Amino acid sequence: MINKLCIVGMGLIGGSLARALKVADAVNHVIAVGRDETHLKRAVELGVADSYEMSITHAVTDADVIVVAVPVGSMKSVFSELAGNIKSDAVITDVGSVKGNVVRNAVEVLGDSLSRFVPGHPIAGTEKSGVEASFAELYSGQRVILTPLEETAALATQTITQMWHAAGAEVVSVSVEHHDEVLAATSHLPHVLAYTLVDTLAQMHEHREIFKFAAGGFKDFTRIASSDPKMWHDICLNNRDSLLDMLTRFSSDMSKLTKAIEDEDSEFILKLFTRAKTARDQNC
Ligand code: NAP
Repeated sequence: MINKLCIVGMGLIGGSLARALKVADAVNHVIAVGRDETHLKRAVELGVADSYEMSITHAVTDADVIVVAVPVGSMKSVFSELAGNIKSDAVITDVGSVKGNVVRNAVEVLGDSLSRFVPGHPIAGTEKSGVEASFAELYSGQRVILTPLEETAALATQTITQMWHAAGAEVVSVSVEHHDEVLAATSHLPHVLAYTLVDTLAQMHEHREIFKFAAGGFKDFTRIASSDPKMWHDICLNNRDSLLDMLTRFSSDMSKLTKAIEDEDSEFILKLFTRAKTARDQNC
């Protein structure tokens, strides 16, 4: 049971965690922090938070667990405000979709609290944002990746593991580097492709006509292009190297397919599509 949980960034991810822990009776008091007071008031009205504070410094002073759930580009400034203002046994975690840069930020500014910082990333979400979009079942049966550092105290990792278990999630630990490579491939590249595809079509002269005839497949494939642009801007720039590797690899494969279509190379096209179908059917 967490006595006082402070969530900095009470949006989809932070709000869903608060809801799940409340349903599980795994938290006594949730305090929310954010920049826009109307969002925080709404979180209290919805029963997602018990109270709110506009100041991070004030909100964290007596918190037992602090979850940082802001866009990854804002993590460093939040960590700076936390450092030096938390209890000596408080545990800090984050939910950022990128781990390398977030960990570098934490190392730079968390000081003595670094041993109680457990980097994390729930592999669950939707294309919606804000506390209104949050729901208690978001993490049920989903994975949460933790990337504890050499400095991370075992007790801190245990506290955060128990928190996610209470929210219904399965917890796995991997290295920071492995996390960023895998997520670049499975999440960051698909988001970039979806945004680019929709933008390409939107710029075409007949785009209204094109979208009018968009059927289920197109909508399924591009649903994630409706995600928050600021969040995905931050993810691209904070996982730049791994994402660039994936984009280079994908562009090369796309060029080969383009050439095969140009050359009417049926064998190449059929082989590629068959390989992809087999991989999708076996693994997803
Ligand atoms: P969201 O719904 O937009 O929530 C972000 C919250 O952070 C908002 O409530 C915003 O509230 C607050 N905020 C933004 N900047 C802040 C700052 N500088 N200080 C304090 N509060 C701030 O976004 P989300 O989808 O929950 O994403 C949050 C984090 O989870 C991101 O790091 C993202 O990479 C990660 N994540 C997202 C998903 C997903 O599918 N959405 C999945 C896994 C992980 P105000 O505007 O009122 O300040």
